[in-house]
Amino acid sequence: MADKTADRQDANGGFFVRFWGVRGSIPCPGPDFVRYGGNTSCLEVRCSGRLFILDGGTGLRPLGLYLEKSGAVDADLFFSHTHMDHINGLPFFKSAFKAKNRFRFWAGHLRPKFKLRDVICHMMTEPIFPVPIDILAADIAFRDFAAGETFRPRPDITIRTAPLNHPNGATGYRIEYGGRSICYVTDTEHTPGKPDQTVLALIADADIVIYDSTYTDEELPRYTGWGHSTWQEGVRLCRAAGARKLVLFHHDPMRDDRALAALEQEAANAFPGTVAAREGLALTP
Ligand SMILES: [Zn+2]
Ligand SMILES: [Zn+2]
Repeated sequence: MADKTADRQDANGGFFVRFWGVRGSIPCPGPDFVRYGGNTSCLEVRCSGRLFILDGGTGLRPLGLYLEKSGAVDADLFFSHTHMDHINGLPFFKSAFKAKNRFRFWAGHLRPKFKLRDVICHMMTEPIFPVPIDILAADIAFRDFAAGETFRPRPDITIRTAPLNHPNGATGYRIEYGGRSICYVTDTEHTPGKPDQTVLALIADADIVIYDSTYTDEELPRYTGWGHSTWQEGVRLCRAAGARKLVLFHHDPMRDDRALAALEQEAANAFPGTVAAREGLALTP
């Protein structure tokens, strides 16, 4: 399933994002969900050898199987937030069970009330899950920050962050490398007619914007307060911010292949180049 071209690009000093899980809320396997995939949020971003993982939804399980085919893994895993669909791949992430691997897990929405380690611990506690977090043999550092902070994991890589409008909070990311940028903006709700200035600033002039497109503008009024946005708002934001490519993401599990393909076409007509994220898709900014 993994796109081999992406691996060659990485070896050549490339920069790309590859999707391992694209759904929101809950996985939705089945014959009507083959083209786009049924796993929840998980992305792999590579900056010439450096590995970043965005979210730990069920897509993290196949990513782990893939990573374990090569040598030791050293990666930063940035959580948009800790709702179940963004963390529930973690107890099945093979790479976290191997002592040879090193991870830094990051969350920007929990302080001061919670800590990332405690939250993950809570999920991996009986009788919800039979084995505790100590079973994860990899060297894992848990790091809480405040959304809005900027990181420089390597002198040539910048990661900007911003708070999103979501129940219990969430963090948007912008990864910059070699004069290019990939933005990851999920889960977030907009107020109709009022572009989110924080999101606009985060995605200004971006090459790729991966955006919460759970609903359509027509559906949104039924889901006020649920913390999600629409593909039409993604188009409006990208236009206003001068962003180049929109990627629809966090697909509603009710949206089967046929419905999603129609929606993708409609979005591409509105903003040329737009695609709907699907498992295995790799994009270079
Ligand atoms: Zn979600
Ligand atoms: Zn959420």
